[in-house]
Amino acid sequence: MESSPNDYLATSPNGFMKIRLIDPFDRLTHLPCLTNSKFFILMIFDNRYCLFSSLRILVSFYMRKLLFTLVIYVLPRPLGRAVVGGLTFLGMLSKKQFLGPRNLQMAIPSGCDHACEFCITDIHGKGAPKNRQTLSFEELTAQVDSALEILCLNINLVSTGEPTLYPKLTDLIDHIWKKSRGRATIKIVTNGTSLWKFSPEYFRDRNVVLWLSLHSGLEENWKSIHMPLSQADEKFSRMREWLIWYNRIAPESVTLHNVISKQNQDYLDSILAFARETRSRDVFFGRLYGFPHLQLSASEEKSVLEKLLRLEPSFKDLGIRTNVANFKFVAISQDEDKGADNAKEVTEKILSSRDFYKSHDCYITWLFSTVDDTGQLLACGKGRLIGNTRQTPYEELFLRESPKLIEDTTNISKRGTSVPGCHCLDCPHIQMNVTANKYLRLAPF
Ligand code: SF4
Ligand code: SF4
Repeated sequence: MESSPNDYLATSPNGFMKIRLIDPFDRLTHLPCLTNSKFFILMIFDNRYCLFSSLRILVSFYMRKLLFTLVIYVLPRPLGRAVVGGLTFLGMLSKKQFLGPRNLQMAIPSGCDHACEFCITDIHGKGAPKNRQTLSFEELTAQVDSALEILCLNINLVSTGEPTLYPKLTDLIDHIWKKSRGRATIKIVTNGTSLWKFSPEYFRDRNVVLWLSLHSGLEENWKSIHMPLSQADEKFSRMREWLIWYNRIAPESVTLHNVISKQNQDYLDSILAFARETRSRDVFFGRLYGFPHLQLSASEEKSVLEKLLRLEPSFKDLGIRTNVANFKFVAISQDEDKGADNAKEVTEKILSSRDFYKSHDCYITWLFSTVDDTGQLLACGKGRLIGNTRQTPYEELFLRESPKLIEDTTNISKRGTSVPGCHCLDCPHIQMNVTANKYLRLAPF
């Protein structure tokens, strides 16, 4: 059977089936549920599957459309988002995927104006992505539309460089805002130094939140880590002023992200001072991994954790949330941990975190999905390649793959081995799973 634009590849309990849907009311656009659906009549071409499966697929297809209409057009933003959150949670409890993932992280093509030593991207020092064909603006917006179809309402914009340098960033933000009718939240992962080009009111009105890579609150130390390629003396203070302004008009919208390494381990208190000064409400700590000359040794990690535990009460007094209690999960990998002195309480805490996935499951399918700037959809952002959104719409790829991923990730504790294709021992989403497992345990059924 040849493909037509109206083909819809749906999942069935037995695998996949191709169904062709025809829209006899092509011009009927006044009902939102139909404007988003070109499909109306179902014709089954593959008769290997029973009628029941076909009906089930049809019902779930229209249920999704109905839900989309309800959340995007009918319910006010907080209620619509609560419905999506509730269904996501129910899905995790019942191990069924009712909606798309909570977050889509998509990379937009741009260069960077910093030169961090631990930069892992291919634009480092070159200013723009090279040697690969990145997604066009139209392809990015098609990806957004597809994700919104399955009610993925948190769009994270990252980049192989700095997303705020993407020339069409405001067009993309406007598109997400309009298409979701303000229901989506847009998170920009940024180094922060080009924010001054944008009006804080514009960001606030488009539901923009920031995940800002700070790493140090002390200007000299910050410069030695970020190594800005130009205007090094202005960038830090301009970023600080902009953040003070943004936090005043959009509280709770900024997370200061700090990767701890040999470069900044002695300046942790400057991060507290910066958060206090800019009135930021969330501070996140991670560790640098994969750079032997910069990453902390096992003993340095323990000392960092002890320092963070000492700083934690001061963060709390200022009403600043941190991940210090969970830092042990991102600290110390199994290998580095060997031979650690486990006499101290801190060490015991670290050791107890090693085997997290032997007693807990991974809920990444409900929580997160990532597409790189060439359209590659990867399981959990680091895992196996699922497909390319250039060839197949994101929504289709995700729906097709999610049953398999659910099975793999929610059986990780029973199976005792990594998810095929992933490197779960160094899981990038362990914090998300720690929180998910905690809340799922609270469920009364
Ligand atoms: S800010 Fe990010 S993209 Fe830019 S050089 Fe540093 S790590 Fe690389
Ligand atoms: S690395 Fe493994 S445990 Fe972590 S999110 Fe991916 S699949 Fe789940």
